[in-house]
Amino acid sequence: MGNRELLIQMERVRVAYPSGMEALKSVSISVEKGEFLFVVGSSGSGKSTLIKTLLGEVGVSSGQIMVAGRELSRLKKKELPYYRRMLGVVFQEFRLLEDRNIFENVALSQRIIGVSHDRVKRNVSLMLDMVGLGEKRRAYPKELSGGEQQRVAIARAMVNRPAILLADEPTGNLDPKNSWEIMDLLEEMNQLGTTVVMVTHNNEIVNQMKKRVVTLSQGVVTNDMPQGGYVQ
Ligand code: ADP
Ligand code: MG
Repeated sequence: MGNRELLIQMERVRVAYPSGMEALKSVSISVEKGEFLFVVGSSGSGKSTLIKTLLGEVGVSSGQIMVAGRELSRLKKKELPYYRRMLGVVFQEFRLLEDRNIFENVALSQRIIGVSHDRVKRNVSLMLDMVGLGEKRRAYPKELSGGEQQRVAIARAMVNRPAILLADEPTGNLDPKNSWEIMDLLEEMNQLGTTVVMVTHNNEIVNQMKKRVVTLSQGVVTNDMPQGGYVQ
């Protein structure tokens, strides 16, 4: 299968926090470019830790993580920001800047990496249109519904066109209707070529999306179902 490309390879990853808590015990997961992967498991099973290790926020105690052929533990501190350009992140609690309008929240991702003024304007406008918020570009986060705020967060995560989108319970604070709008957007990003890793507690979403489903339990992968996976 020559056209298969492994984008993420976690090999026997162990993460122990300074407290001694072993959040991941020996996790091995490979993700191909273009996959959509759910990570499920009860609270405390290590899902957020897995996302944080991919972000390079939490170092592995043993084992290794390769992303696009680079081993994370070998990245120098100053290389980390460049590595992170490959990633977009969305969290349960949106994490928007309250004192900046929607346009500026999304634009910041581009300004940080030095995109020119004209391009920022164009890219942010395109992205806001894509998430259906072009009209609200001058609004502030507080003036938006939770679903709208999460759509801004997705625009912010995607405006730099990252290869990978990491989402940690992105629908956790949303009602079913808004949750499905977010899922439609994530699906769209995936169809445009972005590899998506989404942590969720929402079994209904997992079972309707019919994607790959990895189950974590106490820091161990207990199930890895290919496309069409479900939870009971
Ligand atoms: P999940 O996202 O599946 O709920 P987490 O990855 O947040 O799980 O946590 C896994 C385990 O690691 C839990 O027992 C949690 O209490 C512990 N943990 C998470 N973060 C830290 C930390 N910074 N320091 C110590 N223990 C932590
Ligand atoms: Mg979590």
